[in-house]
Amino acid sequence: MSAKPAIVFDLGNVLLAFDYRRAVRNLAKQSSVSEAELHALINQSPLLLKYEAGGMTTTEFFNEVKFAASFSGELEHFRPIFGDIFSEIPEMIALNERLRQAGHKTYIFSNTNELAIEFIRGRFPFFANFDGYILSYEHRCMKPEARIYEVVERVTGKNNRGIVYIDDREENIVSGAARGWDVIHHLNHTDTIPALGELLSA
Ligand SMILES: [Mg+2]
Repeated sequence: MSAKPAIVFDLGNVLLAFDYRRAVRNLAKQSSVSEAELHALINQSPLLLKYEAGGMTTTEFFNEVKFAASFSGELEHFRPIFGDIFSEIPEMIALNERLRQAGHKTYIFSNTNELAIEFIRGRFPFFANFDGYILSYEHRCMKPEARIYEVVERVTGKNNRGIVYIDDREENIVSGAARGWDVIHHLNHTDTIPALGELLSA
């Protein structure tokens, strides 16, 4: 086994920026409720949390949105609209490539959902370049619950300081640090990249 630490990346706001407003604008064209109501329905809503925690299937999620928003389209119309909220953060994607060239295994650890991941796989080639993916909806639990951090340790085969974890949400970082992982609270790449360099050379 490699002695180099595994690098565990959060996805949203670390490797991909996201903005639900674009999806909301496009959904509104086929809905009878306001953009504000649509935003409340899909962005960090109880419905989205349930979906991302694996508590409902994609079809169930879509049916709830379709009903609540009076969306006139079908799942095949909803899929690309709901998914198209992401844009690459190129400096962080380049960081992943450099880490892999240096012999680190790298992983994605995300609270997310099946529609988002299917869309991302189809749109962003960089997403294929990781050794593993720990996705909330597949494990029916979410960061910052300890159980999903145990999954990361199982998948990476590492623990304690064998893991370096980068996430923009403080409560997620706190759970990683509590397990003895090295953590970086990500605010922007200009701070994260040198902070990681220091950790790895220590
Ligand atoms: Mg995030």
